[in-house]
Amino acid sequence: MKIGIPRALSYYSYFPFLYGFFTDLGIEIILSDPTTKKTMTDGSALVVPETCLPVKVYVGHILNLLDKGIDKIFVPSIQSIAPKIYNCSKIRGLPDLIRNVVKRDFTIIEATLDKSEKNQGLYSFLQESVKPLGITDFDRIKEASKKGWKVYNNFHIMMNSGIGYKKALKYAMENKVIISNTNKIYPVSIALIAHGYNLYDDRISMKIFDKLENLDVKAYTAEQLTHEQMSEGLNAMNSRLYWANEYEITGAAAHYIQDRTIDGVITINAFGCGPDSLMLERISRYARKLNKPILNLSIDEQTGEAGFITRIEAFVDMLYRKKRSGILNKINIKRSEKYTDIEIKNILRH
Ligand code: SF4
Repeated sequence: MKIGIPRALSYYSYFPFLYGFFTDLGIEIILSDPTTKKTMTDGSALVVPETCLPVKVYVGHILNLLDKGIDKIFVPSIQSIAPKIYNCSKIRGLPDLIRNVVKRDFTIIEATLDKSEKNQGLYSFLQESVKPLGITDFDRIKEASKKGWKVYNNFHIMMNSGIGYKKALKYAMENKVIISNTNKIYPVSIALIAHGYNLYDDRISMKIFDKLENLDVKAYTAEQLTHEQMSEGLNAMNSRLYWANEYEITGAAAHYIQDRTIDGVITINAFGCGPDSLMLERISRYARKLNKPILNLSIDEQTGEAGFITRIEAFVDMLYRKKRSGILNKINIKRSEKYTDIEIKNILRH
């Protein structure tokens, strides 16, 4: 038994669980290839231009799986993950969208998770996911879900310790848990706030983690926070939960905005994304209130890497200057004393 899973959208949240679950049931997973320009172009050609980039990319990944000869593709409909907390309409209607735009011969394995309107929880979702593959034994499904949780929890333990996404996923799939123990000191720290599919897809985020590392900047994400920390962030902003990713976006942003060890916040959102535009407006206002520098980057398929990187570099440069002047003021160095950039960097390091 073989199924295809597109390396897009919910892949970046739930793949560790799905990997443990499906493989425990003896189902082989074929992933689409990492996103390329062709993935974006192919996906964009089939949907209306107003569609957000992550959905265009998702369609491109479906086409990639079909080109690989996969005829059963898992396309979940994740409506609501908790009572009265909803995903955006595009994610909720994903199977219908794919059925209507990809006119090729294949089976969509769809399953619905809806904790609000239909009270369809995880087990019903899992039963629906494997029924088309002939697996109906509920106890066996329950047993396989334990393996799913094991891989998922190991993955999050590693991400929480600061290990990068790809490494954490690889180790979790190998049943390993490796904890990050880097002692490197970074002069500047930034919080990256975005959906996992905008952050960990190297093509969409244009390898922002590598870029920041090259600039000697430590990047933090929602994955390094506990649920309680994000919840406290939401409370501090007096923000009510409505969107499925509100904890990771608003809660994490609020936490890092309050954190004095974080020098600035970068948000990445897809052009035309309704939920993000609401969340980012509140985040930006809160950052302004607490005087935390914030850079909002909006992306679509036309976004050029050069402009994207220039904005990040300018923001980081501003943070270096802000921190430098703060430290120089603190240790009361006369303005007439000129320090070179390397000397300043060394001051910041200690
Ligand atoms: S939340 Fe925004 S970016 Fe994500 S699928 Fe919905 S509209 Fe697109």
